[in-house]
Amino acid sequence: LEESNRKLESVNEKLKMAAIIDGLTGLYNRKEIQARIDQALLQINEERFSLIMLDIDNFKQVNDTYGHQQGDNVIKGLANILHYKQADGMHNISAGRWGGEEFMMLLPGSGASSAVRLAELIRKRFANTEFSGIKPQTVSLGVTQAEREDTSDSLCSRVDMALYRAKKSGKNKVVLI
Ligand code: GH3
Ligand code: MG
Ligand code: MG
Repeated sequence: LEESNRKLESVNEKLKMAAIIDGLTGLYNRKEIQARIDQALLQINEERFSLIMLDIDNFKQVNDTYGHQQGDNVIKGLANILHYKQADGMHNISAGRWGGEEFMMLLPGSGASSAVRLAELIRKRFANTEFSGIKPQTVSLGVTQAEREDTSDSLCSRVDMALYRAKKSGKNKVVLI
């Protein structure tokens, strides 16, 4: 009985993980990162936080030129950079896959300037990542700090707008709103 209980627990654990983790990247899925943003907004009076939204530049070209498999490798390459949990004294960073080649990071305790520093670090690290058989790729990043008045929608729209401006103004850059 103990043996089968252990097995059940392990199956349960795997199911729980599968419900919140993106299969390709091992990062949180969109539902989970959205839930964490909602939770952080509920606690904003106790702890400030910032968001970083990322989108790989000219990614369609990667797929078209090198194939979908190589495209997946580029997505995984960026995900590997986002995996670390600690940076510059930051704690409990959550990173999730927001869509195909789009990602969202939640930075509890961080104001805008340290979020921008981390975003810049990620931008540089990705630009310097080597892929076998593909030229180096770049990513654009939007950054914003949550305000007390924010709803989940207003906050996500703002970080999306910051990312949009990074794209519009030439890509491979960080824009703060
Ligand atoms: P921009 O610099 O403006 O972001 O241009 P882009 O080409 O990156 O943007 P666009 O939205 O046109 O292309 C995104 C592409 O990502 C289109 C889609 O086929 C591809 N894609 C989405 N999910 C995946 C995936 O899981 N794997 C691969 N290989 N490609 C994906
Ligand atoms: Mg995109
Ligand atoms: Mg893109």
